[in-house]
Amino acid sequence: MTAQTASDREPEHTLFGEALQVFHRAADLIGLHPRIRLELEQPDYEHIFYVTTRVGDRLVPLAGAEAAPYADLAPTNLDMTALAPLFDGKLGIGETALRGATVSARDGVMRLSGSVYRVVPGGDVRLKAYRVQHNQARGPYKGGLRFHQDVSLDLFNVLASDMTWKTAIADVPFGGAKGGIRMDPRAYTKAELENISLRYMYKLKQLVGPNLDIPAPDVGTNAEVMAWLLRQYSDGERERHAMRGVVTGKDVRIGGSRGRVRATGQGVAYCIEEWYARRDKPLKGARFIVQGFGNVGSCAAEILCEMGAVCVGVQDADGSIADPKGIDAAKLAAYVHANPANLRRSVLGYAEAQAISHRDFWELDCDVCIPAALGGSITGEVAEKIKAKLVAEGANGPTTVEADGVLEKRGIEVIPDIIANAGGVTVSYYEWVQNKRMEQWTEAEVNGRLERAIKNNYRLILDIAEDTPRKGPEHDSRGFTVGKKLHTRASAMVLALKRIEAHYLLEGFST
Ligand code: NAD
Repeated sequence: MTAQTASDREPEHTLFGEALQVFHRAADLIGLHPRIRLELEQPDYEHIFYVTTRVGDRLVPLAGAEAAPYADLAPTNLDMTALAPLFDGKLGIGETALRGATVSARDGVMRLSGSVYRVVPGGDVRLKAYRVQHNQARGPYKGGLRFHQDVSLDLFNVLASDMTWKTAIADVPFGGAKGGIRMDPRAYTKAELENISLRYMYKLKQLVGPNLDIPAPDVGTNAEVMAWLLRQYSDGERERHAMRGVVTGKDVRIGGSRGRVRATGQGVAYCIEEWYARRDKPLKGARFIVQGFGNVGSCAAEILCEMGAVCVGVQDADGSIADPKGIDAAKLAAYVHANPANLRRSVLGYAEAQAISHRDFWELDCDVCIPAALGGSITGEVAEKIKAKLVAEGANGPTTVEADGVLEKRGIEVIPDIIANAGGVTVSYYEWVQNKRMEQWTEAEVNGRLERAIKNNYRLILDIAEDTPRKGPEHDSRGFTVGKKLHTRASAMVLALKRIEAHYLLEGFST
């Protein structure tokens, strides 16, 4: 037996390798210059670093046999407003909780509002953090920050490259990046999250900037996190007001753009509207299901309901609900996002729809399916069950390679993520421009620009897919079609690569 050499070994399976299959297919189709392929098939920079922070003491609920010996404990009275309820039932103890308190404790256990808790001391923790900068041929690196327990370098490579394709498709002058921290943000108090965010930017400061790399919200982060990052980046700097564009997705009152919060969902809805318009079919009355009811899922659902579509099912990390007569998405959003009692920010327990099983959700009778949660949720098995005629990808990478094949075989069309959810980065660009000009545009202006941009770019993708080169009033696909029909995912990639390729071909390479 001979020893195995490195070149004999099967290449390691990675999410990034799998995601690049579409890139390579499109690169082959357009005969992409080999050196440009080499530039794009690996990220420019992969930054891995660590964020340390101090986590405060917790009150951990005890139940059953653990709680029984403390049945006789007198109640403790604390400043309940200084306790931070966390998603797992624990309570973070704020600094002021013990002021004026009457404490009755035994073995570190106390009774609070009828329940028994053990005080568990906090301590110092170290969290793994990332920023992948994939490509900057078209402009500064751009991409979201994800705070989630399942992130990895491999995943950020996928998501950062997706941003390179997406910014090219949206035709905004940015490249692609993505980053975040491996953590479950729901397990931390607001004060702890602030410290973690500040420390993340403290470590990242040399690598980002308004003209260098511009983070934005993604899963587990929001406008509040962006505000903390902005402060950490700009505090004490002489020209700090010129630095507002270092992050996008900010609150409107501190330089955010009107329409940014809803922009990704808005873009999903515009794409679906265009898909229906192209077929001369009414969107009004179309039934849809949405997986994920966070920023993207809830905004897309609300906007589609405003357009006359009917939401018949919603699934999030904690459960699924359905109603064939229609779920009022605005009411559900209030139940999930504006309800302090709903600590998990979940659709679970919503009284005006029926709870259904995870399995039944995918089999709901509908016209459009909108995955808007995490990557990989539409597997081959799920794709076999979907009843919709259209899958509009609000999430990044929700459809596996196997599922893509199943959907194609079943004649179910796909609006690929890199156009369907490009509304977020498009309006992030508007925010960045407004920051540079110290302007604030109206929501109508933002949405008007977004609608024109996303529908025109989607029309280009459809023309490439259908091999119908043409010049419309606002779009011209003649330079992009490849002489044969393509799957929309490949056609979206063709558009991205042709736009990126132009920079390399016209500007050349510095040696
Ligand atoms: P979010 O954190 O606001 O919401 C995520 C939602 O997904 C929550 O409702 C959560 O319960 C649900 N979820 C998580 N795990 C799930 C599971 N296993 N099964 C079912 N549901 C699950 O995140 P978001 O900002 O709405 O992002 C959602 C997706 O859209 C992500 O893939 C993100 O990368 C993508 N995206 C977001 C933006 C943006 O502007 N926020 C832009 C482009 C793409």
